[in-house]
Amino acid sequence: MDDLFLHACCGPCATVSVPAWRAAGVEPRLWFRNPNLQPAVEHERRRASLVRYADAAAVTLVPAPQAAPGAPWRTWAASLGASSPETRCATCLRLRLDEAAAAARAAGAERFSTTLSVSPWQRHDLIRAAGSEASARHGVDFVYLDLRERYRESYAASRQLGLYRQKYCGCAASKWEAWAERRARRTAR
Ligand code: SF4
Repeated sequence: MDDLFLHACCGPCATVSVPAWRAAGVEPRLWFRNPNLQPAVEHERRRASLVRYADAAAVTLVPAPQAAPGAPWRTWAASLGASSPETRCATCLRLRLDEAAAAARAAGAERFSTTLSVSPWQRHDLIRAAGSEASARHGVDFVYLDLRERYRESYAASRQLGLYRQKYCGCAASKWEAWAERRARRTAR
């Protein structure tokens, strides 16, 4: 089987992405690196859910650094309240996929992708742009696979495996936005 270095955002998205790649004759290696997650306990919940899925699906989990993010991440975090959603998401995706491409190259992989492409809530144009930029910078192919139509499959798979499912994208700003949206929906009923 061909090899793929697969940046993983969480367990639930991996439940869709891994089987899709395997069905295409590709064996992914998962790599969890998401310093965008706030607060710290949320990072641990999502990491633990991915570990649980990797065990259940017998997929390789490549160790990722748990060290505190470097200067680019701190700059991004500091600008969270001030920047537009588009600017902050483009930066966040660029930082994560750049780190993923560098790790893929260090791991000897020829190509990389991300489980973020499962989510209908993500800006897929920004994912593709960030992946292409990282690919050019690190000399590893970026492979984009649109899995939004299969997003709902992750509900059943997550339930079956008892995986934690998040209610917001990841940063503090997105947590507030998701909370405000839910409140607006409740008020409109
Ligand atoms: S909403 Fe999601 S993609 Fe956008 S900046 Fe926050 S964590 Fe990153």
